[in-house]
Amino acid sequence: MADESASCIFCKIARGEIPATIVAENEAAIAFRDLDAKAPVHVLVIPRKHVASLDHYPDPVVLGEVLLLAAEVARKDGLKDGYRVVINTGPDAGQTIHHLHAHVLGGRNMAWPPG
Ligand code: AMP
Ligand code: ZN
Repeated sequence: MADESASCIFCKIARGEIPATIVAENEAAIAFRDLDAKAPVHVLVIPRKHVASLDHYPDPVVLGEVLLLAAEVARKDGLKDGYRVVINTGPDAGQTIHHLHAHVLGGRNMAWPPG
């Protein structure tokens, strides 16, 4: 099987090969600002280790670390009135980068249901 991590843009960010505005990190996960922000706060949280999506059986401990780092980012960015964490999975959800990532969106009201 090809090593997907070699060409994966988020693996490159995790390895420090391409720049990103990193806002928080721990041993398992990294959080950085989305290049094309859809809200006043828009941060992506990724596992350091490549896994293509939520449908690719991520390590449950790592997945927990991703979600807890998302909450840490929201606290750090002062989202005390709430925020949304989104994991787009597969084409119907509009997943464009095939490295699992959680969007942390906040700083404005969020519509429900999402589009
Ligand atoms: P998704 O549509 O859920 O796969 O989201 C991918 C997200 O990655 C989009 O919101 C993009 O704006 C964002 N993105 C793509 N390339 C980069 C990058 N180099 N640095 C930061 N965010 C990126
Ligand atoms: Zn990757």
